[in-house]
Amino acid sequence: MKKAGPVAILLLLAARVLAQNPPTTREMNLICWQEFQEIVPKNIETVLLPVGTLEPHGVLPNGSDNLAPEAMARELAPRLNALIAPTLNYGVTGSMQAFPGAFAISEEAYELFIRDILRGLAGNGFKNIVILNGHGGPQTAILKRVSASVSPQQKVRILVINWWSLASEETFEVFGENGGHAGINETAYIQHIVPEHVHKERYSKEMTTPYPAGTSWSAEPFPSSIGLYEPGQGFPTFDAAKADEYFAKVNAKVETLIRDVIRKWDLAGLYR
Ligand SMILES: [Zn+2]
Repeated sequence: MKKAGPVAILLLLAARVLAQNPPTTREMNLICWQEFQEIVPKNIETVLLPVGTLEPHGVLPNGSDNLAPEAMARELAPRLNALIAPTLNYGVTGSMQAFPGAFAISEEAYELFIRDILRGLAGNGFKNIVILNGHGGPQTAILKRVSASVSPQQKVRILVINWWSLASEETFEVFGENGGHAGINETAYIQHIVPEHVHKERYSKEMTTPYPAGTSWSAEPFPSSIGLYEPGQGFPTFDAAKADEYFAKVNAKVETLIRDVIRKWDLAGLYR
């Protein structure tokens, strides 16, 4: 074998240093194009895209569906060696859009917009796009549909995660009961992030309504901003220690799923 010259050794060392050194920032909002060019996709193949909406959440911020996946992305990006795309703060709000400060994008507009965001991320060289979704309703179906069409077109791997649903076991583990929209689980996750914006003094049980079972009833607008998954369970408790515990457990669950899916994509050699 031919001996490596000093230039080759230097290049190898430089590549190793780059691989070991984290980027100056993991936020696409803050990184400059030169650094982006150096690291994507050579050192960083994954991008986390937080998406949510503005809608009422009991006594939590209206932007809770944005704050949760954004905090999750900041927590997980270094652990997964990923960059973080700017949060899509506007979404398809649905039956709570009548509440003050809420905002609803039409399904048609949302679908076109999120499609172009995914295409843009693929075009910028990312191999894995992980959508951290903070909001349910029709938005989840749109994200699934758009991912299914963009992935084969762009030959990019896309994972959509609805954290509150993925972490259902963790909700039972930490609180011993089921949660809800702005219920005990979401309140805890948000309380860990912005405790100063959780207004316990405004809370009463009257603000809650259990979601209807099956097709028994529906109401537009939904009469409460706290929707319980099961009657009699999931009332917020504002326990700070449990909030911290829940935040960590949810993130660990999400991290495990992302690692597993990427590892299996790699094993299968899909879109490499
Ligand atoms: Zn929410």
